[in-house]
Amino acid sequence: MAYKYIDNYREQGARKKLVEELKKKGIEDVQVLNAIGKVTRHFFFDETFWNQAYKDIAFPIGEGQTISQPYTVAYQTELLHIKKGDKVLEIGTGSGYQTCILLEVGAKVYTIERQEKLYERTRSLLPRMGYKARFFLGDGSKGIANHAPYDKIIVTAGAPTVPEILLNQLNIGGILVIPVGDENAQKMVTILKTGEHDYEKHVLDTFRFVPLVGERAW
Ligand code: SAM
Repeated sequence: MAYKYIDNYREQGARKKLVEELKKKGIEDVQVLNAIGKVTRHFFFDETFWNQAYKDIAFPIGEGQTISQPYTVAYQTELLHIKKGDKVLEIGTGSGYQTCILLEVGAKVYTIERQEKLYERTRSLLPRMGYKARFFLGDGSKGIANHAPYDKIIVTAGAPTVPEILLNQLNIGGILVIPVGDENAQKMVTILKTGEHDYEKHVLDTFRFVPLVGERAW
């Protein structure tokens, strides 16, 4: 069944402008920019709020959660350096917008959400938009051990520390991207797994995410 909404000229134009805005803000990866230009972000919004869909802002999606700001989605995706066919674990499915961007850049996506209503909504919406991912309900702060290892892991909620269990679920050469900090602000952290017990860590810009809630988190 096709999705009830359509992608009309107004939304297509707004999406092009958003791509230009993200370029100006420093996003360079052409694959990522193309993905932002392709994914119909207004499909994640009630029609009343379509005028907000291509603004570079986060927006409430219910259950006290938000659809991430396009810049943040592009920034995290760029840091993952996704190659076609990479197996990616996304922790914090939320609306599924980030999931679609990962799929558009060629990843195979395993995504986990702890809030049942969001999980149900997103796993029903994405196939109707033509996107295929594996959806899981549960505490992603522990990763998903029975589908590990992953080439890349992205966490879309703010963690107090880097859960070591996630590093164990990465392939050598794999990358974890995770915001780490307190409830007010987090630094984006990337960790490249260079050997069985060797890692290269980079601490980057400041963001503000909703908290990662779970056994290995808040
Ligand atoms: N990237 C998503 C998008 O574009 O819509 C937004 C994600 S939202 C900022 C963060 C999500 O992480 C929320 O939906 C929240 O319920 C979820 N979350 C928080 N802690 C979690 C956990 N331990 N396991 C799985 N999901 C979690």
